[in-house]
Amino acid sequence: MRSQRKMRPLSRYLKDYKHGQTNCSHCGKVLDRMALVFRGQLINKEAIARMDQLIDEQVWLKLQTELTALCRFCSDIYCNTHSTYFDIMAFKQYLFEQTAMSHSTIREYVVRLRRLDDMLQAKNFPHENLHGVSWHACLENQLPDAGNNNYRIALRKYDQFLGWQNTYL
Ligand SMILES: [Zn+2]
Repeated sequence: MRSQRKMRPLSRYLKDYKHGQTNCSHCGKVLDRMALVFRGQLINKEAIARMDQLIDEQVWLKLQTELTALCRFCSDIYCNTHSTYFDIMAFKQYLFEQTAMSHSTIREYVVRLRRLDDMLQAKNFPHENLHGVSWHACLENQLPDAGNNNYRIALRKYDQFLGWQNTYL
């Protein structure tokens, strides 16, 4: 069997993989510019070029399961979201799959929740104060005066997501 093992550089596999991807694996959008995420890290062209270790098909098949091809929009959210309260990735995915919202509207919601998350972190808001399926109710008195309404709308959407999660997951 050993003689049949064809070794190729990992970078070669990655380049082929990149060319083979047509749609974002999070939102399904057709990819124009793509971001490759490997083990939770974004890898750019230069990083790929440096991955020159020789591997065979079997190793590649395993590695492939840890790769994700994302559009710029999804990769930005993926790489810049370190929320501690809200599950922003799952929320974004919910909006994509269960609503007919546009990318720009989804981005708005994500940005608002990120800001809220930062604020709650800064206040050391206790996690246990967030419970049930209405975080809007839990955070009623925590909302900043500026943009209050926008945060409310985002939180109500988040409540819908929590309700959906409760019912279907
Ligand atoms: Zn996407």
